[in-house]
Amino acid sequence: MTGERAASPSTAVVVAVGSELLTPHKSDTNSLFITERLNAIGIGVVQKLVAGDEPTGLARALRYAMSVADLVIVTGGLGPTADDVTRDVAAELLGAPLEESAAIVEAIRARFTARGLEMPEINRRQAAVPRGAEILENPGGTAPGLWLTAGNSRLVLLPGPPRELRPMFDRLVTRRLASAAGGRRVQRRVIRTTGRTESHVDELARPIYEPLAAGQPPVETTILASLGQIDLHMSTVGADPEAGARALDAAVGELAGTLGGCVVSTDGRSLPEVVGELLRGRGARVAVAESCTGGLIASRLTDVPGSSAYVHAGWVLYSNEAKVALGVASELIETHGAVSEPVAEAMAVAARAAAGVEFGLAVTGIAGPGGATPAKPVGTVCLALAGSEASPRVRRVRLPGDRERVKFQASQAALDLLRRALLRGATGS
Ligand code: ATP
Ligand code: MG
Repeated sequence: MTGERAASPSTAVVVAVGSELLTPHKSDTNSLFITERLNAIGIGVVQKLVAGDEPTGLARALRYAMSVADLVIVTGGLGPTADDVTRDVAAELLGAPLEESAAIVEAIRARFTARGLEMPEINRRQAAVPRGAEILENPGGTAPGLWLTAGNSRLVLLPGPPRELRPMFDRLVTRRLASAAGGRRVQRRVIRTTGRTESHVDELARPIYEPLAAGQPPVETTILASLGQIDLHMSTVGADPEAGARALDAAVGELAGTLGGCVVSTDGRSLPEVVGELLRGRGARVAVAESCTGGLIASRLTDVPGSSAYVHAGWVLYSNEAKVALGVASELIETHGAVSEPVAEAMAVAARAAAGVEFGLAVTGIAGPGGATPAKPVGTVCLALAGSEASPRVRRVRLPGDRERVKFQASQAALDLLRRALLRGATGS
């Protein structure tokens, strides 16, 4: 088994083991993490399988996986209980007898002793090692991982809990695979945009990225659209990381320059992070007044660690009474309606004044499904930003989708309004 030098793998199959992964209550996320890490060292995942905790089906899945790719990563089913069968099935499949490792028994016993407990006998199962396997230590749990080789095939068994699996993968698995991959590396960059549609971004970007795919080294570009955000993912594969990095830097520079103001970041930062850094850089604080977003803007801003430096306060002003109580004139609501540019503006001004900070950011809109009028269909959202200038910035947008989608895109549009103002030099004071 070990000792033979297997050829470097270029493709992999990931097998997630666990009957709970075949229910509607739990989905396999380990394979997403593993795919990301494998891609980064130039290994493509060609198939993924989910198998229950049942030996016959799992054996079939593993046999199939090994027929498809020379690298098979298995997660889950390494626990101590009878329903954890991965170890036994793999040993059987490779014809390797299981042998108890005294060192692993002692390591497991020590984990229990450290917590003042005696090791249950069933944990001995986790010390069973198929002959010839390499042991991958698991500092986060009792089940060690196992690295098995048969001919050109590698079968890597890892524990299911993500917080155990992830550090093990980064510390033990990636390095072994990277050295086998002969220094071939994938490098990536992301250009994150907001405020433009996917087709618009593609129209601008395609004349630039298409020729890059034929460059040396080639830069591959894909567009990933998610709610309120269009990302351009660029990658190069090659043995010369410096040439790859140079090609990517040039591509990012050219694309970002062409896309202009809709570019939120070129280093993976999210919109709330970028807004936060801009506020911090100006020494400015923001207060938010939210109607249809119900606190989502404040929530997203405060998802960023350290946001207490620039998030001062937030109000969910859902009823007209609440808007008036913070300082919106009731005549404005009567004349223009609660979803209107003048009311959004008054909310932003009121929030800024009540909080005594540099910026007031406000949103009022119709998230649906009810509440629409012919003049104000579902998805009509008014946004305003009050700063030190005499007249606040006000925008009205029409957002597609259901309630949840409208709320998220409204929060995105509001954060982007603030981002663009900060980029244009607004300080709020
Ligand atoms: P344990 O010793 O904890 O039993 P194990 O290797 O047997 O380890 P499992 O029992 O298969 O792992 O899974 C333990 C927990 O890890 C599951 O309850 C689940 O929450 C999580 N988990 C397992 N596999 C996955 C997966 N593919 N994606 C996301 N979470 C997973
Ligand atoms: Mg288990």
